[in-house]
Amino acid sequence: MIDIKQLTKENLFLPDATRGAVRSLTTKQLEETGTKAIVTNTLHLLINYGADQIEKLGGIKKLMNWKGMVLTDSGGFQVFSLIHSGKWRGEVHENGAIFQSPREGNTYELTPESAIDIQMKIGGDVMVCLDDCRKTNLTREEAEISVERTIKWAERCKKHFEKEYGGTKESGKLLTCVVQGANYLDLRANCAKDLVSIGFDGYNFGGFVVNDKGELVLDEMKTVIQNTPKDKIRYAMGVGKPNDIRKAASIGYKWFDTVLVTRNARHGTLYSSNVDGEIIRIINAQYSNDLRPIDSNCDCEVCKNHSRAYIHHLLKIGEATGMTLASIHNLRYYQRLIEDLTQIG
Ligand SMILES: [Zn+2]
Repeated sequence: MIDIKQLTKENLFLPDATRGAVRSLTTKQLEETGTKAIVTNTLHLLINYGADQIEKLGGIKKLMNWKGMVLTDSGGFQVFSLIHSGKWRGEVHENGAIFQSPREGNTYELTPESAIDIQMKIGGDVMVCLDDCRKTNLTREEAEISVERTIKWAERCKKHFEKEYGGTKESGKLLTCVVQGANYLDLRANCAKDLVSIGFDGYNFGGFVVNDKGELVLDEMKTVIQNTPKDKIRYAMGVGKPNDIRKAASIGYKWFDTVLVTRNARHGTLYSSNVDGEIIRIINAQYSNDLRPIDSNCDCEVCKNHSRAYIHHLLKIGEATGMTLASIHNLRYYQRLIEDLTQIG
């Protein structure tokens, strides 16, 4: 059994097991990368599997036979962005959103209460409150509304979790919230303070973590750290590139996730400490005869047993094994990065 309380104190990189698997890996292969926790995508599980069905089968951990920790997202980020972009039919309203899945045509309503119910059925260990996440470059007025709703929704999530499920005490699950406020530092600070006064197990940095130039929004991230308790989870959602993780960790964040690690692997962008910039584009012709491992400092089974030339060949012809091997290496690279982090502050 994993000790969730202990994990809240550790640095963690959570790979995205979007639909109940980290793509192209078995659960055992995932464990062997040193991964202790994963994040699943509530919306994808809802429309592809069904929360009731997952619950009936014993929850996502049993289904995956995953002994580590599972963090479920609220589903809000995907739903709101699909509605805002016009890709999905739906409406965002004061209590959440109502939307139609183009997959099976069903209509769903995501509210603070239903977000908790769905996550309870999926059966992870750490849940996230529904928050009002929006596009980039918000006006102050838009950011103020987003903060106001985020706080109101977080309060409703907590009430519902305690009333229906007995809170952490009876369910054993943790509840985290999301701090919004876009790039307005005073709004970030106020949002964090109000959420802290309601009381959660963790405070996740919400909204966009990089600016238009692709740089981490460190001032906003620091504001959230300064206004949340050190002994709680501080999760930099969607961070990110190796150096961005190091920067976020240096100011106090402990949990990180990004879809890039495995997506990059499948597209031939591999991490290596042997090159400047830490990135190898393995598909490039220069690797076709390169018999060195992807990273001579890596202890993964791929680097111990296979060459850059072999991975180059497999990925170039679209062989599934290539994607598996590349994903194993990239994940191990990130888990080693996390193991090497020295927390400051
Ligand atoms: Zn490796």
